[in-house]
Amino acid sequence: MVRRGADKKLQLVPYSQEYKEFLEPAAKLLKEAAGLTTSPSLKSYLTGRADAFGSDDYYASDVAWMELDAPLDITIGPYETYEDELFGYKAAFEAFVTLRDDQETAKLTKFEGQLQDLENRLPIDAGYRNAKIGAMAPIRVVQEVFTAGDANRGVQTAAFNLPNDEKVIKEKGSKRVMLKNVQEAKFDKVLVPISRLVMAPEQQAEISFDAFFTHILMHELLHGLGPHDITVDGQKTTVRHAMKEIYSAIEEAKADTTGLWGMQQLLDRGVVDKKLERSMYTTFLASSFRSVRFGINEAHGKGVVMIFNYLTDEGAFKVDGAGLFFVDHTKIQAAVSKLTTRILTIQAEGSYAKAKALLDEYVKIRPPMQKALDKLRDVPVDIEPRFPVAARLAPEQSW
Ligand SMILES: [Zn+2]
Repeated sequence: MVRRGADKKLQLVPYSQEYKEFLEPAAKLLKEAAGLTTSPSLKSYLTGRADAFGSDDYYASDVAWMELDAPLDITIGPYETYEDELFGYKAAFEAFVTLRDDQETAKLTKFEGQLQDLENRLPIDAGYRNAKIGAMAPIRVVQEVFTAGDANRGVQTAAFNLPNDEKVIKEKGSKRVMLKNVQEAKFDKVLVPISRLVMAPEQQAEISFDAFFTHILMHELLHGLGPHDITVDGQKTTVRHAMKEIYSAIEEAKADTTGLWGMQQLLDRGVVDKKLERSMYTTFLASSFRSVRFGINEAHGKGVVMIFNYLTDEGAFKVDGAGLFFVDHTKIQAAVSKLTTRILTIQAEGSYAKAKALLDEYVKIRPPMQKALDKLRDVPVDIEPRFPVAARLAPEQSW
């Protein structure tokens, strides 16, 4: 927090002091929970996080979270910075309580070993690639049981890649968590109904949950690749710092674009099923309408509309006489690769001005998209989960 002190100067107030009334009881409960679990890694995470609430030093418990290997997968703390519209530096508190889906998790271990190879082939100047990315890249598929705070307001999180601390990412890597039941609900209740109204009929049939799920996974994986620690004018900094308030929008656009690029790479080498080749692009196109409805003043919406317009200008996304959209499969790969190069190079250069120019040029809803969005009035914008387990355990609260 930043507050004005007695001398009228702005001063930093650590979270542990500003939110003491909430953090002290929360830490006590985390320690109590740590006493109840038989899993050593969960015990270590819960205890470490409780300590961090008092000390503001989250490093050790971020590492413990990376190493967390328990059927009950928990994430709690100040993580995402989407709420801070000033500089995107200040993180908001959130919590996820989830159950690990071991069968689905096992299916994804093959992706963990692909990351350095993808980094080495990123379509940017070789000097911008990271020769040694963090060694750990666990992927967990989980079922969401309960969320609170930043995780349960507005658009529901479908997956996340944490921690955000660049020091942990560099030394250890990062962990991706896929919230499968959330993704299924979004796909069935929102994406499929949207696709019926905005996609050309012959491509509507290509929309698939597998493609949706795998692109979300690639999105999260690719957040961890590309430039993070950079040098601008001889000074060491981070992309996050250099991009200030537009960092989230640029980083989300990067994850979506490079996610498509990376998925194509893995498909070409047989890691991803070849049958997703067409549906990965058509599903992404249909899903663009879903994301744009979150609002283009929000990072994910901004990123998506920018990609949508860029790919349209490259001739890869087209609209027919009836206002229905389709992918030009002869152009999409080259267009995605071109945009991947552009965004990653801007990040590597730490160029706020170029990032701003890219957003200014493409972040707008053009008439064909607006017409399509107008047809979607009866389709829900997002899902709103109910948490029956939590309601049973604490009926006095309104979940
Ligand atoms: Zn993201």
